[in-house]
Amino acid sequence: MSLIVGLTGGIGSGKTTVAGFFAELGAAIVDTDAIAHELTSARGAAMPAIAAAFGGAVLRQDGSLDRALMRRLCFSDPAKRKSLESILHPMIRGESAARCRRADHAPYVLLVVPLLIESGAYREHVARILLVDCDEARQIERVMARSGLSEKEARDIMATQASRAERLAAADDVLSNSGAPGELQRDILALHRRYLELARRGDASGRA
Ligand code: ATP
Repeated sequence: MSLIVGLTGGIGSGKTTVAGFFAELGAAIVDTDAIAHELTSARGAAMPAIAAAFGGAVLRQDGSLDRALMRRLCFSDPAKRKSLESILHPMIRGESAARCRRADHAPYVLLVVPLLIESGAYREHVARILLVDCDEARQIERVMARSGLSEKEARDIMATQASRAERLAAADDVLSNSGAPGELQRDILALHRRYLELARRGDASGRA
């Protein structure tokens, strides 16, 4: 099993951008959000259970999950959110563990878990936590520009997530992404070398 580093950060902080740079350096990426999308795509493995629990109204015409509708339903009804999570989370955990095991060709794995600090579910499977840190004003700007959410919607989502201070307290390594993407690269290269060294030493602490 390769060294597994958990990559986390708030909405729009830059996790996907950072993971892309690490992938170019040779890290394997296992992205729990991407797995969630696959599970809820047309003919995704979670769709029969979701349709049974929520009815056909949450499906789009092609059979995939209507994510915007589901987000609204879950925001206003915690029981619905729990029900969705009880279907999806075990499937995401199982699939991400399988992908981490299959990634042993790579020197180490970055396991991208947006709510790693909030849920705690993945902590025992990762050797370290790498945080993509971004100041809140930029986070809101990027979320609004990318997804067309209003400032209030972006803030509402952020209010459900850990605070910046809580994330910083839980992280072993921090990448600051408040500047331009190019500024990240030197810090990413330094961390990549560090993870290669940890992997080479076979530092077993916290491996899945
Ligand atoms: P989410 O939590 O919503 O999945 P994320 O943490 O994966 O988001 P990204 O998708 O990497 O974040 O970045 C969010 C948006 O901000 C994207 O449109 C991305 O291109 C942009 N972005 C990321 N980093 C920077 C940066 N340093 N400067 C400017 N824009 C950036």
